[in-house]
Amino acid sequence: KLFGISGHVNNPCVVEEAMSIPLKELLDKHCGGVRGGWKNIKAVIPGGSSVPMLNAAQCDEAIMDFDWLREQRSGLGTAAVIVMDQSTDVIKAIWRLSKFYKHESCGQCTPCREGTGWMMRVMDRLVKGEAEIEEIDMLLSVTKQVEGHTICALGDAAAWPIQGLIRQFRDEIEDRIKAKKTGRVSAVAAE
Ligand code: SF4
Repeated sequence: KLFGISGHVNNPCVVEEAMSIPLKELLDKHCGGVRGGWKNIKAVIPGGSSVPMLNAAQCDEAIMDFDWLREQRSGLGTAAVIVMDQSTDVIKAIWRLSKFYKHESCGQCTPCREGTGWMMRVMDRLVKGEAEIEEIDMLLSVTKQVEGHTICALGDAAAWPIQGLIRQFRDEIEDRIKAKKTGRVSAVAAE
């Protein structure tokens, strides 16, 4: 399998490796490991921007094949592995993908045309913490209305990263909303 590895590794690369290689072995053997060491890993998108991310605990166990990743509600996809270390604002990272898919929507079918814009606008506010906690489930519900209801795979591709973010990092989203309300931290501005 060809793996294309980018992000917070010491040596991003494209490499041909055996299917089912553990993620840690893949990164250590070919990429010089995660920047700052394995314990510095925060999340990995294992199969291209459309597939749901894994959290650090899942990364510890991750086997890079279709079956294992499907069991984790993610996917091997194109095997384009995006590594994020602890310095990553994962909400902003997924917001950026939402912006991309909104831009790429051709507008032919309604759930994608309207849904990608709707999802991106909610993600705009989540990045800044300018939302209500209840909106997280509302956003999740919208992703389910887009997923599987469009002509091509772009609708799924726009929905899945957000689903992964909410599954793996709901606490971080809630913390940002609470922090914004109480003025604890300065919000991260979306650009
Ligand atoms: S799902 Fe595909 S066909 Fe439908 S609007 Fe989006 S990009 Fe166009």
